[in-house]
Amino acid sequence: MNFHIMTLFPEMVDTVLSESIIGRGREAGVISVKLYNIRDHANNKHNKVDDTPYGGGMGMLMAAPPICECHDAVCADIPADSKKYTVYMSPKGKILDHKTALRLSEYDDLIILCGHYEGVDERAIEEVVDEQISIGDYILTGGELPACILVDCVARLIPGVLADSVCYEDESIASGILEYPQYTRPYEYRGRKVPDILLSGHHENIAKWRREQAVKMTEENRPDLLKIKN
Ligand code: SAM
Repeated sequence: MNFHIMTLFPEMVDTVLSESIIGRGREAGVISVKLYNIRDHANNKHNKVDDTPYGGGMGMLMAAPPICECHDAVCADIPADSKKYTVYMSPKGKILDHKTALRLSEYDDLIILCGHYEGVDERAIEEVVDEQISIGDYILTGGELPACILVDCVARLIPGVLADSVCYEDESIASGILEYPQYTRPYEYRGRKVPDILLSGHHENIAKWRREQAVKMTEENRPDLLKIKN
C-alpha cells in the first residue's frame, strides 16, 4: 500500500514514519510513504501558501490552488487503475476508529492532506477530498501528527508490516474489548508477582483467566464497548 502525504512540513512526517515497525515496513517495501510539499505548488514569488480569510477572523487559511495543484501532482504519480482515496485530517471529520482503519487499508493508494494554521479553503476540500477524518475531540496546530497516526494504524493492518495478523486481531479494540493484562520477566518486581495462573502451563485455564480479566478491564475503563457487543 502507498501513502501519499501532502504537507507544509514533510520532514516532520518523514521523521516519525521512519522509525520502528513502520520504518521497517517501508524499508522492506511492504508499504511506501511519499511526501509532497504543498509549498512546491505555491506558484508565486514568495512561495506563499496562505492568506487571510474572507469575511474576517483570526489567523491565516491555506489557499486552494497550491493544495489542488499538489493533489494533481500526487495523482499523476499514481497508476490510473489504482484504487485511490483522499482524506483530509480535520477536527471536523468523523473520529478515527479501528473500523475506519480497516476500510482504508483496502485502498492501493491513500492520499492524506495535512492542514495547518486556521485550516484550508473549503473549495480545496470540495475539489479533492473524499472524507475528513479527526483523531479526537481536541485541536492540534497541524494535520501532520494526525496523518502519522492514521498511517501507523492503517499500515499495521497491511500483511507483512506486523509479523502475524493475530498480532492485531487479539489486541484491544480490534478484538471488540480491551486486552487482558500481560507480564514478562522478572517474575517478581518491587514485591509484585506475576499471577500464578500464567505459570501453570494450563492453557485452558490461562485462556479463561485472560477472558475474565479482559472483561473486567473493559467494564472498568470502556463499558461502552460492552454495550456495543450486546
Ligand atoms: N480552524 C479549524 C477548526 O476550527 O476546525 C482548526 C484548524 S487546526 C488549528 C489546523 C489543522 O490541524 C487542521 O487543518 C487539521 O489538519 C489539523 N487538526 C487539528 N486538530 C485535529 C484533529 N483533532 N484531528 C485531525 N486533524 C486535526
